[in-house]
Amino acid sequence: MATKGNISVHTENIFPIIKKFLYSDHEIFLRELVSNAVDATHKLKTLASSGEATGELGDLKITVKLNKEAKTLHIIDNGIGMTEEEVGKYINQLAFSSAEEFLDKYKDKGGQVIGHFGLGFYSAFMVAQKIELITKSYKEGSAAVKWSCDGSTEFEIVEADKAERGTEVILHLADDSLEFNEEARIRNILEKYCKFLPIEIEFEEKVLNNPAPLWTKAPADCTKEEYEAFYKELYPFSETPLFWIHLNVDYPFKLTGILYFPKIKNEFEPTRNKIQLYSNQVFVTDSVQDIVPEFLMLLHGVIDSPDIPLNVSRSYLQSDANVKKINSHITKKVADKLEEIYKQDRTEYNNKWESIGTFVKYGMISEEKFYDRGLKFCLLQNKAKDYFTLEEYKEKISATQTDKDGKVVFLYSNDMIAHDSFIQTVEKRGYEVLAMDGVLDNHFISNLENKMEGVSWKRVDSDSVDKLIDKDAKKESVLSDSDQTVLKEMFEKDFAHNGQFRFSTEALAPDDSFLTLIKPEWERRMKEMQKMQGMGMDIFGSMPDSYNVVINSNHALSVKLSKMAEGEAKTQLSKQAFDLARLSQNLLHGVELTNFIQRNTKDLSV
Ligand code: ADP
Repeated sequence: MATKGNISVHTENIFPIIKKFLYSDHEIFLRELVSNAVDATHKLKTLASSGEATGELGDLKITVKLNKEAKTLHIIDNGIGMTEEEVGKYINQLAFSSAEEFLDKYKDKGGQVIGHFGLGFYSAFMVAQKIELITKSYKEGSAAVKWSCDGSTEFEIVEADKAERGTEVILHLADDSLEFNEEARIRNILEKYCKFLPIEIEFEEKVLNNPAPLWTKAPADCTKEEYEAFYKELYPFSETPLFWIHLNVDYPFKLTGILYFPKIKNEFEPTRNKIQLYSNQVFVTDSVQDIVPEFLMLLHGVIDSPDIPLNVSRSYLQSDANVKKINSHITKKVADKLEEIYKQDRTEYNNKWESIGTFVKYGMISEEKFYDRGLKFCLLQNKAKDYFTLEEYKEKISATQTDKDGKVVFLYSNDMIAHDSFIQTVEKRGYEVLAMDGVLDNHFISNLENKMEGVSWKRVDSDSVDKLIDKDAKKESVLSDSDQTVLKEMFEKDFAHNGQFRFSTEALAPDDSFLTLIKPEWERRMKEMQKMQGMGMDIFGSMPDSYNVVINSNHALSVKLSKMAEGEAKTQLSKQAFDLARLSQNLLHGVELTNFIQRNTKDLSV
């Protein structure tokens, strides 16, 4: 006897809507159907353990089959099955989720039900012109039934011939969806969404999934080898990770997962889409940018939470209370882990700093909460390659590097080789220089300056040595004020290069350089910022670099030049000194460089 009827939907045109608008990714129909099969299997297990379902459970698995000739795709389970009445209720009443009803009833028995993705079963009409569902309930004496529907709102239920308990869904693929009539395509989708489903999934007689992925185990039961092997399973081509965090939260939200710290080279390569989001072991997405704080996107691994609402808009996700809690939980766990390694094994932590430094700095820049935590374990490296925390370093240098306003000045260089002459000069004063050559370091420095009290940062080439750390020391000049003015004006007249070089005199130590070419800190930072943003009016970017040139009025050459009479010899000597200073900063080019070399080789042959 056949039952015919109408599916109760609000509009006759629901299927074209499903097809066009529901999911941009048609392939997720398979995730939905396999999830249903997993749910049905779980329900059966739950009922069996409570004694409500009797009889052999058998080998519980899900089989996916493709019949290329018939253009049909079969999803077969030996789960709970449905009676005719249930088919009417669950399958025909669109948007009616029996999963909810079931969960309500079995909440306390630990039933694990995936069915909260949305339209579920009906999403199969995105790819099928006709669907048949043959099912037989676990309930004793149930008759098997076959439901079929061709995508209109009409369905048919007839008696069926099925001996085993469970459900088989048969999709007759639509002409415009024959891409799914390919083994490779189906395997691909299954590997993407079903890789870690908790019930075995068989396709082409091979089990495709790992039903007990490591994150579902208790952290105490997992070994280092297992963590590393699981990482390889997720990212076959990646290097061994540095360390990992096993997330395992039950309350106030459910969250499990493993986050790995990959080896990051010093260059900043945001490795996006490396964290996979699962919901009860069903793959949901690998773009988690609204769920995980931006800086944690550098991590790899898996997060599994049934408490993250799916199929909702981004703006909704960002404001969702659970997502926010998950966010700060993960941030906290990551900080805990870093602090733990830092405390337990400082040497080990130092060794890993090259890889995690970018990550920690990025976190401190972008997350207020993480900044506070990071202060404890963020490291600086000096020229001797020793590591210090911010506080340790401040402590170390405060006796020598505090300026007249009581600020401790952190001197740094982003290029130790290019800045060598500056570094030698400051080292003569007993100062130290930090290596800050990472991509994020400019940002990081201005961030620290805003937040860390009593500290200022100066790049080692941004001022003359006594002004880098201004101690207001009284300095005697060998040259009189008027001699200094004459000297300065002479350089200005001959070498200003349209304002590119600005001259001043300063009473430095006699053995400091005669001329020092300085790039003012603020001007350089403006330029760098503009370069980073790479847009807008390029006011500073298009200007040639300009320099302040400090003439050391206590240098022997100053004295000599002041005493010399005006004339060719004096001009030649000052030119030679100026060219040398520019040469040392790599600022002598083209004709000027050629002339300089010719002039100096002439002397050699004399
Ligand atoms: P959801 O899974 O969100 O509840 P679906 O439309 O996918 O929504 O499924 C509706 C209902 O149909 C399910 O809740 C379940 O009761 C029933 N169902 C679907 N597929 C199966 C199956 N393979 N075995 C048993 N019941 C099923």
